[in-house]
Amino acid sequence: MRYLIISDIHANLEALDAVLAALTPLGYDEVLVLGDLVGYGADPNGVVDRVRALNPFRIIRGNHDKVAAGLEDGESFNTVARSAVQWTHDTLTAENRDYLVNLPPGPIVVDERIEICHGSPFDEDAYVFDELDSLRAFESSTRQLCLFGHTHVAVAFRRSEDRLDLLAGPGDTHEVKIVLEPGAMYLINAGSVGQPRDGDPRAAAAIVDAAAGHIELFRVIYPVEEAQRKIRAAGLPEVLAKRLAVGR
Ligand code: ZN
Repeated sequence: MRYLIISDIHANLEALDAVLAALTPLGYDEVLVLGDLVGYGADPNGVVDRVRALNPFRIIRGNHDKVAAGLEDGESFNTVARSAVQWTHDTLTAENRDYLVNLPPGPIVVDERIEICHGSPFDEDAYVFDELDSLRAFESSTRQLCLFGHTHVAVAFRRSEDRLDLLAGPGDTHEVKIVLEPGAMYLINAGSVGQPRDGDPRAAAAIVDAAAGHIELFRVIYPVEEAQRKIRAAGLPEVLAKRLAVGR
């Protein structure tokens, strides 16, 4: 089974469509969505419609989905995120809001080899940035490969008997292929489709080949200016348009 991994789309339809256009020809059987379909970007309905049409094999919610759906109040959000999520809540159709309301929390087991979560396998809202964070996540992980999102930073950690290795991180997550070695566990963030924050503005996504035992990380160029134009036209905070150009 080959899975397309997409996370943190954040209502950026241009980025999502570019990822689908670039990676569909590589071939995948099913789609895994790791949450945060909306928030920040200007196309919440377009993105939710697109995701629903993909009919994901497994999909979980992110923290922005929860607030946009009205399940949480967003008091932990900063001013920019809160104003964007309020706009998102008001802009979503009742049907799409309902879809977000019903998204399950992670972690969710995908198959005998893979599980997915938004933030971490021990807390859907916790961030895994560095090796120290990864240690706790590895302790809670129940599968060889735990895929996560939330930080918008593509990264790959490997834990074997007495070692913890950083296999890929900022600056080297384009066309990286990681072979899943027996006896090792992996904690991998494919990066953010719609709002990368690792200094590379290209949309990030991955394909896992469960049978072959490998994962490939990709970065895809998309029309950033069009996504920015829509953010400005919607009256969303200017910083949300600006950051897309630099991937921060
Ligand atoms: Zn996010």
